Amino acid sequence: MAKIQMKTPLVEMDGDEMTRVLWAWIKEMLIEPYVDLKTEYFDLGLRHRDETNDQVTVDSANAAKKLGVAVKCATITPNAQRVEEYGLKEMWKSPNGTIRAILDGTVFRAPILVDGVKPTVRTWKKPITIARHAYGDVYKNTEMRIPGAGKAELVFTGKDGEETRKTVFDFKGPGVLQGMYNLDGSIASFAHSCFRYALGTKQDLWFSTKDTISKVYDHRFKDMFAEIYEKDYKDAFEKAGITYFYTLIDDAVARVVRSEGGFIWACKNYDGDVMSDMVATAFGSLAMMTSVLVSPSGQYEYEAAHGTVTRHYYRYLKGEETSTNPVATIFAWSGALRKRGELDGLPELQDFADRLEQATLDTINSGTMTKDLALLYEGESNSVTSREFLAAIAGRLGSR
Ligand code: NAP
Ligand code: MG
Repeated sequence: MAKIQMKTPLVEMDGDEMTRVLWAWIKEMLIEPYVDLKTEYFDLGLRHRDETNDQVTVDSANAAKKLGVAVKCATITPNAQRVEEYGLKEMWKSPNGTIRAILDGTVFRAPILVDGVKPTVRTWKKPITIARHAYGDVYKNTEMRIPGAGKAELVFTGKDGEETRKTVFDFKGPGVLQGMYNLDGSIASFAHSCFRYALGTKQDLWFSTKDTISKVYDHRFKDMFAEIYEKDYKDAFEKAGITYFYTLIDDAVARVVRSEGGFIWACKNYDGDVMSDMVATAFGSLAMMTSVLVSPSGQYEYEAAHGTVTRHYYRYLKGEETSTNPVATIFAWSGALRKRGELDGLPELQDFADRLEQATLDTINSGTMTKDLALLYEGESNSVTSREFLAAIAGRLGSR
C-alpha cells in the first residue's frame, strides 16, 4: 500500500523522559507505516537545550511560526534538582513559556472521552474545552509584604512625566500587597484565538470574568471581546450556527456544571489554570487531556497536557515495562497531521488522523488500555503495557 504523501513538513519538537520513549514508538508503530512523514526536527530534550543554550527552543518556535503546525513532546522544566541531575549550565526557562512568548497564543485544553470512563459530573456528555489566556495577571505580579502601618498607592507615570495616583489602602497594621497588569494587545490576541478556534471546531464560545467586582480590569476583557466579536466574527458565527456569550464567572461555573459539555470556555489566566485542572479531573484523567496552542495569526502547536511522567521513566531505565498512557501524545500527532492536511488540502492525511484516533478509542472501548485508565474503567478491562497497547492500536489501524 502506498504511503500518504505530505506537502509541508510538521515542526517536530522532541522532548524528555517517558514521553520521549513513547514519542519514538508512536512514530515507528502508528505513523511511519502509513505516512511518508515529513518533519523539521528539533530536539528539545533537556541535554540538547543545555548544549545549545536553549537556542533550539527559540529555533523550534520560529519554525512553527514559519510552517504553521507543530507537534510537541512533553519536556522537563528544570528546577534546582534537575540542574544537578543533568549538570546544567543554567536553570533554563520553561520551553512552553518560551514558545508561547514567541507565538503569542492561547492554550486550548480538551479531554478525550471513552465509553467506560464516566465523568464525575453526570450531565457531561461532550468534552469541555478550556481556553486559557496565557499572559499576565497574577503570573506577572509584583508583591510586597507590608510590615506595618502606612499608605499603599497605585502610581502610573506617563511618558510625559504626568502621574496618576490612586490609594490602594491605608494600612493600620501589617498585611500584604500585590500589583498586576495586562495589555490590550494580548487581550485582543486572546479574543481572536478564541473566536477562530470556535469557528474552526464549530463549538459555542463562553467567556467569563469577574467584571462586577473588577470594574476596570476585568471589564476591559469583557469589552474587548464584545467589540472584536461585533466587528470581526458575528457574521461568521451566525453562518456557522454557533453562539458567543459572556457571563459572570459565578454564573458560568453553575452553567458549566449543569451543561452537557460540547463548548469552549474562555478564561483569564488564573481561572483557566485552575478550571482546566478541575475539568480534567472531573472527566477522568490528566493522561487523556489534549492541549493546543493557537496563535492569533493562525499557527498551531499540539501537545499532551501531562508532563514527562518521570516516575515511570525511572522504572523504564531499570528495565521494567511500564503501562504509561500514550493517548494524549497520539492525539497530539493526529491533531497536527489533521491540521496540516487541512491547510495543505490533503484529505487522505485528514482521513488518516481520524482513523488513528478511532483505532485508539476502539482499542480502549474494546477493553484494552493502560493501567491508569483500567483503574477508572467501568466494565471488563485488560490492563497492558504501553507497547502492548500501541501494538493493539496498530493492529486495528492495519486491518482497516
Ligand atoms: P506528570 O509527568 O504529568 O506526571 C504526574 C503523575 O501523573 C505521574 O507520576 C503519573 O502518576 C500520572 N501521569 C501523568 N501522565 C501520565 C500518563 N501519560 N500515563 C500514566 N500516568 C500518567 O507531571 P510531573 O511528575 O509533575 O512532572 C514531570 C516532569 O514533566 C517535570 O520535569 C515537569 O517539568 C514536566 N512537565 C512538562 C509539561 C509539558 O511539557 N507540557 C507539563 C507538565 C510537567 P503515577 O506515577 O501515579 O502513575
Ligand atoms: Mg494548574
